[in-house]
Amino acid sequence: MKITRVEIFDVHMDKDIVLPWHPVLVRVHTDQGVSGVGEVGLAYGIGHSAGAHAAKEIAERFVIGADPFRREALWEQVYRSSFWAQAGGSMVYAGLSGIDTALWDIQGKALNVPCYQLLGGKTNERLRTYASQLQLGWGDEYLQLASPEDYGRSAEAAKKEGFDCVKVDPINMDENGVRVFAHTKYFSQSQLQLFRERMAAVRSALGPEADIILEVHSLTSGPSAVQLAEALEEYGIYYFEEPVSYTNSKMHSYVNDRTPIRLAGGERLFTRWGIRPYLEEQSLEVLQPDIGLVGGLTEAKKMCDYAHIYDVMVQVHVCGSPVATAASLHLEAAIPNFLIHEHHSHAKKSYNVELCDIDLQPENGYFEVPDRPGLGIELNDDVLSSSPTMVVDGNS
Ligand code: MG
Repeated sequence: MKITRVEIFDVHMDKDIVLPWHPVLVRVHTDQGVSGVGEVGLAYGIGHSAGAHAAKEIAERFVIGADPFRREALWEQVYRSSFWAQAGGSMVYAGLSGIDTALWDIQGKALNVPCYQLLGGKTNERLRTYASQLQLGWGDEYLQLASPEDYGRSAEAAKKEGFDCVKVDPINMDENGVRVFAHTKYFSQSQLQLFRERMAAVRSALGPEADIILEVHSLTSGPSAVQLAEALEEYGIYYFEEPVSYTNSKMHSYVNDRTPIRLAGGERLFTRWGIRPYLEEQSLEVLQPDIGLVGGLTEAKKMCDYAHIYDVMVQVHVCGSPVATAASLHLEAAIPNFLIHEHHSHAKKSYNVELCDIDLQPENGYFEVPDRPGLGIELNDDVLSSSPTMVVDGNS
């Protein structure tokens, strides 16, 4: 089997949503009529078109004409010969992720097995799932919540759907619902009071049994993260996600040494080499690799196994199209150190669901793993055709 063509869809949402949302999807074709899909994990932040172009250049240079079953060889070739991959970073690995994940889909379809079988078979039958990013609302509309009452209502909506675990960032929005991007100095008492009221509203809506993940998107510094942990500890935090920037791994240890709350992170780390200091310094208890960023399923599986030797549990980071959800479910079904699955607020929205042929939603707070061959999901060409598309084939 040979790869003949690669399509890259750089989705431009013209919907009126609060934050820019632009998933990049990849479809790889072969000479035997089997195709596979993958995602370049840059749906948020900046760089989606750069990631799409990275996938295009990888396709041109390394992929056309290759055997899609030889994923390891391709991965190592991109690692050694693309120059930039040996320094880590988002663009090259996001581009590689989209293609690598599509190759798993191709192999699963060609062998008529779901991808979790290729990853080692099912270790986990059903995947406990949490409602992620309650501060953006838990419904059809994308919101930026301000009042503690609204945080409580969002938690209630998630509970009604059967979730017994949620994630919330209580510091991302100020008292007027305006996003704040840095909280690096000490918080004032009135800020801490607002954050406490938001957490209290979430806890009271969910009851004492539920788990609450505290997330701060690396907005805090070491000192302000510790101050926040002290202020919110009483609400029963399952784990504390992204307390500080990843640019100095030692700052995770700084926070970890000063709070009893367990730390999680990894959505902005790439490859086994990228997570090495966090494992060796034992500053993270929960690793959150993103299959669309770390170098695809090939690399994500290795990172999960590497984390396992440090007793680090895994919650795959999922913030993308339904393709990202599907890929995560297959990996999480297979790995023994799976903890919980992330279901993002975006994953419920129609602008995201319509990108693919199936709507992946958990039931009663649990996901079943898709049983169709490969990843078990296809792209919706009707929707994707309105965005810029790049095609690489033997003639380009
Ligand atoms: Mg996060």
